[in-house]
Formats: sequence, structure tokens, C-alpha cells
Amino acid sequence: MEKQAQKSVAVVGGGLVGAMNACYLSSRGFKVDLYEARADIRTMEVVRGRSINLALSCRGREALKKVGLEDQVVEDGIPMYARMIHDLNGTLRPIPYGKSDQYIMSVDRRKLNETLLTAAEKRPDVTLHFQHKLMSCDLEKGRWLIMHFTNRWDRNGGEDVEVRTDLIMGNDGAYSAIRKHMVKRPRFNYSQEYIPHGYMELTVPPHNGEFAMAVNYLHIWPRNEYMMIALPNQDKSFTLTLFMPFDMFDQLKTGDDVLQFFLEKFPDSVPLIGEESLKETYFRLPPLPLVSVKCSPYHVSDKAVIMGDAAHAMVPFYGQGMNCGFEDCLVFDEILEDLNNDLSKALPKFSVYRSPDAHAICDLAMYNYIEMRKSVNSRWFLMRKKVDSF
Ligand code: FAD
Repeated sequence: MEKQAQKSVAVVGGGLVGAMNACYLSSRGFKVDLYEARADIRTMEVVRGRSINLALSCRGREALKKVGLEDQVVEDGIPMYARMIHDLNGTLRPIPYGKSDQYIMSVDRRKLNETLLTAAEKRPDVTLHFQHKLMSCDLEKGRWLIMHFTNRWDRNGGEDVEVRTDLIMGNDGAYSAIRKHMVKRPRFNYSQEYIPHGYMELTVPPHNGEFAMAVNYLHIWPRNEYMMIALPNQDKSFTLTLFMPFDMFDQLKTGDDVLQFFLEKFPDSVPLIGEESLKETYFRLPPLPLVSVKCSPYHVSDKAVIMGDAAHAMVPFYGQGMNCGFEDCLVFDEILEDLNNDLSKALPKFSVYRSPDAHAICDLAMYNYIEMRKSVNSRWFLMRKKVDSF
């Protein structure tokens, strides 16, 4: 059989999904160049951005397993066997996720991203380019796809860079530049929805060197119209995330307003966070928005495809955004295997096969917010023996 010429792939975005895709695509014999707008997070002191920790579940673990990283990631994670409901009166109620040995895992986003980048870098034919932000690309012309990146903010001067590639893999997140190019094409379906709620992260530090709450749980303070959750970290702290309508965030204007609100609505959390820390951290960063994106198709001919949040950003209440993005990589790999790496067939098949599933998960994520903040308070819910999600 004639040996096929090695094809090049430009992965745009070196977040969780881009770094994982670099591993998968290199295993399939592609020459991979990954372009990430930020500096290398492995060299940064502080990484700003979204959620400090994430819940890793089965679909994400399957994808990690196939690139040989499941054990390493699971070793660093903390199992959560149940939701722990914090009622207003201080009562604690565990609701198991499944049988006694079933759990989801709290993992550190930065550590996971670093593990994936390092694993990608070690593979043959993978080159990582940091501080390369995609500014424009042409998804249609000729044999080569031409992309323009800038790293003009680089301390050493920086420059604009032109890149030619066979395939663009758009893994550049919820505000994807690649998707913006796709939106301009005919018959591209696209919708996005910002929910009225935003989120803010706070911290429960270790108390006397130990976890301040029961460790193997995803803690929830469901208050019907809003809620707070907490996931454990390896350093024995918890990251709390407060989800609330923006107009409620806006009403809390002073440290005393914040303290009063927490004493009324989440009283048992106040000694855990610490009054001074609560007053200070609340104003450190503004609450961030939550967007849900649906689109189709996910590809342009045999030239470009989007995955992860670029294809299906979802609200975080089902704990499946990253997991679903990881599963995209696994599904695409299986399609490439079946179709002998033929991109002209694999890309359309991925769109047709994957978009209905991803749309369904986006809908489930919307629904699960109501379950987490409200339904878990109902008597009907308490009669159920187990839950099957975040
Ligand atoms: P991202 O992680 O956003 O990575 C995109 C990368 O592309 C970034 O590094 C960015 O710098 C880079 N980039 C962007 N534009 C460009 C450009 N023009 N050129 C080059 N690079 C570019 N999911 C779960 O599965 N479980 C959870 O428990 C969970 N909790 C969450 C909690 C919160 C509060 C939020 C907001 C999300 C949560 N998610 C969770 C969802 C999860 O964070 C995302 O689904 C996941 O990060 C998607 O990965 P990604 O690689 O597609 O995108």
C-alpha cells in the first residue's frame, strides 16, 4: 500500500481539550502544532481564569485512559461519593451519586492542563507554541489553510506569524475565533444564551491543617433561586462557587452587606470562610457570566473542525463541559480509525454523530441547575435513592 504523506494539524487552543487532542492526533500519525494565546501555564506563578477545580466523571476518564493518563490524573484527584446538602438550619444531608463505590473526582484544573501539555510535548511530532493568538484564518482556500497569529505582546518584542496547515482543530474555548469564522458561512446553525446568573469563587482554607468539612463530597447550599457549591482541593482547602443572578451580586455593595447576606443565607459557611476573608475576596474579582452555545455543523469540508467549548460551551451545572470535550477527542479518534484517517469523510461524520449528543448535554446542564439549587430541597427528591450527575 502506498504510504500516505504526513498531514499537518494546527490545534488552536492549549486548554484542556486542545492539549488532549494534541495527544490523540499525534498518536494517529499527524504532525501537530498547538497554538495557545496565553503563556505556558507551567511557567506561570498565578493562572487567572475559570474554575480552580472540576468534577471529572466517567466519560472524561475513558478519554484519558486511551492516551495513558487516567491513572496519573486519578492519583491527584479526590473522590466525591455524594452530594452533601447544607440546609439553612445547618442540617447536613448526603445524597449518594450511585452505589457505595461509585464517585466523581475533584481535580485541579491547572494541574490537569499541565499534565496534558507535558504529555503532548513528549509525543513525536508535537510542537507547542505559546503566546500565539489566532487573529484570522481562511477556512476555504486552496491546498493550504493560512492562519495568522500574533504574539506582539511578547516581552521580547513579538511578531505576527503566518502558518500553513492541512487541518485546523479549533479548541479555542467558548468564545472561539474559529467558530466566529464558521458563523459567517451559509447554513451554519448557531445559538447562544447567557443565563441571568453569574458565578464567583471563594475559598474555605484548611482548619488546623485539615479539611474544614467532610472531604469526599460535593457540598451544595441550595437556596432555590441561587446556590453555592464546594469541591475539595489537594491542599485541604475547598473552592466555593457562588451562583446567583447578577442583580443580586450587584446589590451587595459593601463588606458588611456581603457578611450579612452570608449570615442569613449560608450561615454555616461563614466561620469556614472567615469573616474578613469573605468581605475581602468577594470584591477581588467581579462575578463571571455563564454562556451556553449550540451550533452545527462542527466542520468545514476536510479543512477545519471545532470541539470542546468552541463547539458546545455549556453552563457548568451538569459538571460535563470538560468531560464532554474530552469525549469529543475520543469519538473523533474512533471515527478516524474507522475511516483510515480520511479527513474528507471523518469531519462530516463527526458533525453528524456528535452534535445531537452535545446539544442534549447542553440541555441537561440547563436542567440540572434547577435540580441543584431547587429540586434537592423537595420532598419528592428526598424519596429518590440516588442521583446520577454533578
Ligand atoms: P478552554 O478551557 O476555554 O480552553 C481554550 C483555550 O484556548 C484557552 O487556553 C485559551 O487561552 C485558548 N484560546 C482562546 N482563544 C484563542 C485564540 N484566538 N488563539 C489561540 N488560543 C486561544 N466541566 C466539567 O467537565 N466538570 C466541571 O466540574 C466543570 N466545572 C466548571 C465550573 C465553572 C465555573 C465553569 C465556568 C466551567 C466548568 N466546566 C466543568 C466546564 C469546563 O471548564 C470547560 O468545558 C472546559 O474548560 C473546556 O475546555 P476547552 O479546552 O474546550 O476550552
